[in-house]
Amino acid sequence: MKINILTLYPEMFPGFLGYSLAGKALAEGKCVLNIVNIRDFATDKYKSVDDTPFGGGAGMVMKPDVLDSAIQATYTTGDIYYLSPRGCTFTQKTAHEWVNKEEMTFICGRFEGIDERILEKWQVKEISIGDFILSGGEPALLTMLDAVIRLLPAVMGNMHSMNEESFENGLLEYPHYTKPQNWQGRIVPDVLVSGHHAKIQDWRLEQSIALTKTRRPDLWANYLAQKKN
Ligand code: SAH
Repeated sequence: MKINILTLYPEMFPGFLGYSLAGKALAEGKCVLNIVNIRDFATDKYKSVDDTPFGGGAGMVMKPDVLDSAIQATYTTGDIYYLSPRGCTFTQKTAHEWVNKEEMTFICGRFEGIDERILEKWQVKEISIGDFILSGGEPALLTMLDAVIRLLPAVMGNMHSMNEESFENGLLEYPHYTKPQNWQGRIVPDVLVSGHHAKIQDWRLEQSIALTKTRRPDLWANYLAQKKN
């Protein structure tokens, strides 16, 4: 999997993707990050990448000509995404879709964002990390890529644990416990030390359902709707 990243802050990559599961995947070349510094494509002597917005107002806008040169020099195939609060929200489902792609390109915005004509010309899709405003696309992209890279085949050692994770089966995950069995007078639920696998499975499912119902009624409604189909 090849990921092209257009950014004004190339030094932010691979960032925390250099650690743990993602770090291993990058080191083994299962995923290649091609980091492109947008500023390298600036043409004036000040290396300007942004300018004032037509129509006035606060902030600066990333210039279309500079960004276009950066895309032209980088892009070969696949979808181009702009990290943007206007986009659809990234979910576990998105992570599963992206992990099957051979090549993807991402534009990280800064300032007020990028000139709209870039989105039109390159048929750029927009993706958001949630309903809040970051100061740039980089932290959002790093987070999304962490979710994607850990799904690459053979990155997660224990595929079984993945299937039970929150969102994977439409439910939030059940509570976990490890040794010691009695910790400060708090005892691990009996069923988990019973050795009875079917009962353990039932207990975990009940817990998942109870948590999902109370904490995420939206997920619970989806789960019920899917069960019907
Ligand atoms: N003026 C814009 C926000 C600009 S924030 C607006 O009101 O919609 C600067 C940059 O941070 C954006 O260009 C985008 O790339 C990134 N960004 C901010 N919030 C984000 C979010 N929720 N998801 C993804 N990217 C985001």
